[in-house]
Amino acid sequence: MINNTSILLSSKSQFEASIAKLSKRAGKLGVAAPVITFGNIIIRNVVNSDNVEMDLEFIEVAIEEVDVKLNGWEVIGVVEIEEGVTYTRSFQELPVEFRTTSMTRCDHCHTKHARNSVVIIRNEAGEYLQVGKSCLKDFTGHATALSIASYWSLLAEVVEEFEDEYMTCSGVPQMYSVEKLLSIGAMSVRNYGYVSKSMAEERGMGCTTADDIRTYIFSTNNKNLPNITEEDKATAATIIEWFSNANLDTTSDFMFNLTNIMDAGYCSAKRIGILSAIFAVHAKATMESVDYSKSVWFGVEKDKIEMNVEVVGVYGYSTQFGYMNIITMLNEAGNVLVWKTGSASDAFSKGASLKIKATIKGHDEFRGVKQTSIIRVKAI
Ligand SMILES: [Zn+2]
Repeated sequence: MINNTSILLSSKSQFEASIAKLSKRAGKLGVAAPVITFGNIIIRNVVNSDNVEMDLEFIEVAIEEVDVKLNGWEVIGVVEIEEGVTYTRSFQELPVEFRTTSMTRCDHCHTKHARNSVVIIRNEAGEYLQVGKSCLKDFTGHATALSIASYWSLLAEVVEEFEDEYMTCSGVPQMYSVEKLLSIGAMSVRNYGYVSKSMAEERGMGCTTADDIRTYIFSTNNKNLPNITEEDKATAATIIEWFSNANLDTTSDFMFNLTNIMDAGYCSAKRIGILSAIFAVHAKATMESVDYSKSVWFGVEKDKIEMNVEVVGVYGYSTQFGYMNIITMLNEAGNVLVWKTGSASDAFSKGASLKIKATIKGHDEFRGVKQTSIIRVKAI
C-alpha cells in the first residue's frame, strides 16, 4: 500500500535519519523495509494573523508501507517490579514461573540490565518469551513510516536542547518524581498554555513550561507562580495514566528519551525540557481521537461566517518567519475549520467553546479529512 503525504522540507534530513533507523531494524529482523520516494517540493501558502501571506516549503513523500515486526507472537502479560515487589498483569493465564523470573533477562536481545518491567509473549507453537520493552516492538511492530512523516511535518519543534545539569553535592544528579514535575507543569499549562523553547524564542518573550517547572523546584520563593491545585494533580495523573496505555512511536531519539523518563517515573533537572513536551504529545494524541468523519467543506472564499465552534487542537511549528499555530476547530455540524496564525489569543485554547467571526480562505484536505480554512478569526 502506498501512502502519499508531505513533510516540512527543513525536516527532510531528520525524517531520513528516522527512516534509516527503521530500515536498519527491518534488516536485523529479516523483513522488508518501507520504501520512501520523495516527490516535488510544494510551496504552501499560509496567512498569518496580520493577514500577511507566507510561503512554506514542503516536500511530497510517497511511502510504500510494510509491517516491521516478527509475525506470530502475541502479548500475554507483563511482570513489573516496584520497590522490590513483583506484580503481574496478564490478559491470559500466565505460567507461574514468570512470577519469580529475573527482571534482568531478555530472551530476545540477551542484554542483562535492570528493568522495571518485562513483557511475556507467546507464539502459535505455545512457546513463551520474556522480553524487555524496547525489544517488544520487534514482535508487536515498529513505528510506521507514515507516523514518522507526521511527526516531522508537525511536532519536531517540541524537541528541546539539553540544559546544564544540576548536581547534588555528591556529583549525582538530583532526581525528581515525574508525578510532581507534571503537576507543576500542569499548573503552568493551565495558566499560560504549553510553551516549548522554540515557541518562547520565536515569540521573544515568556518562560517555557520547563522554565516554570525548574523555577518552582529550585526557588525557595515561588510565590510569583500560581499554586498547584487538585486539578493540576489530576491532570498529571491523567497524562501518566494515558501514557501507560499509549503505544508511542519511539523511533526518534526524542520520543525514545521521553518514553524512558515516563517509564522510569523520575528525572533530573536536565531532562525537564524533554519531559515537559509530554503536554504537547498528549494534546496532539488526544486531538487525533476527535471524530472528523462527518466533516464536509462549506462556504466559498471570502464568505464572512459567524458560528459556534469547539477548539479541538492547538499546535504548530517553527518557520523562518516565526512560529505558526495551527488551530483546529469543529463546528456544530461536525465540520473542521483550520486557522493558521502567527499569534492566536489565549481564548483559542484546546477544549474551549467559542463563538467566532471569520472569513473563509479556502478548502483543503488533510489525511483524508475535508477542512475549511479560515482567516481574520475573532472570538466574539
Ligand atoms: Zn531485549
